[in-house]
Amino acid sequence: MTDYFQSSSAHWKHQTRRLANIILDFVFPPVCAHCKKPGALICSDCLAAIPWLTEPICSHCGRVVSRPMLRCAACQKNPLFPLERVRAATIFANPIPDLIHQLKYNGLFALAEPLAGLMVEAWSNWKIPVDLVVAVPLHPDREKKRGYNQSDLLVTHFCKKLNLEKGVRALQRIRNTPPQVGLNASNRQLNVANAFQADPNQVAGKDVVLVDDVCTTGSTLKAGAEALLAAGAGRVSGYCLARAL
Ligand SMILES: [Zn+2]
Ligand SMILES: [Zn+2]
Repeated sequence: MTDYFQSSSAHWKHQTRRLANIILDFVFPPVCAHCKKPGALICSDCLAAIPWLTEPICSHCGRVVSRPMLRCAACQKNPLFPLERVRAATIFANPIPDLIHQLKYNGLFALAEPLAGLMVEAWSNWKIPVDLVVAVPLHPDREKKRGYNQSDLLVTHFCKKLNLEKGVRALQRIRNTPPQVGLNASNRQLNVANAFQADPNQVAGKDVVLVDDVCTTGSTLKAGAEALLAAGAGRVSGYCLARAL
């Protein structure tokens, strides 16, 4: 019940902001979230500067490497199993960090649509098996504070554009963990261990693509994959807007 009220309050917060943004768009046409040039939320100059993730990458974790390889040095030390693989649309470099910051912390959730568009554009490069797309969830307390989950917004637009099935609360965060920022790889892994629970009714037997805005060490995706597999999912891969290196 509490969950219902929390998600309903987050929903109304989101709807109110959406309406406010529609009115603001009308009165003040959009400016580029990064360089402030008028016209679009991501202007053509900033679009042209998007640092796409391209080969050669580590085939497991998706990091950029100097030549194609099955497992990079980081994966040999700390593989992301049971995750099949991690891929991303872009590299976490200008203008992506600022755009993600605006999406997450400045309430500019309208950016989710053009940012999901980048994920759509890069998707066919990676041939990831998919029956169901699931967002990395925020803990309800954090989602309530922010009013929305940026990864869930990315998944909504992504699935709509590619006509893919979206999991709705298919993965939940059952433990409120401190942010991963500033933690090293092993502390990140400890921080998110057993933080998730998945719904077998939605995920059993399905190849799941788990979506997050940024992948740094992959610990969050890995912990999410463990929960999805425990609930009977088939293969679980990670797909992110940006790969931090
Ligand atoms: Zn711009
Ligand atoms: Zn790797």
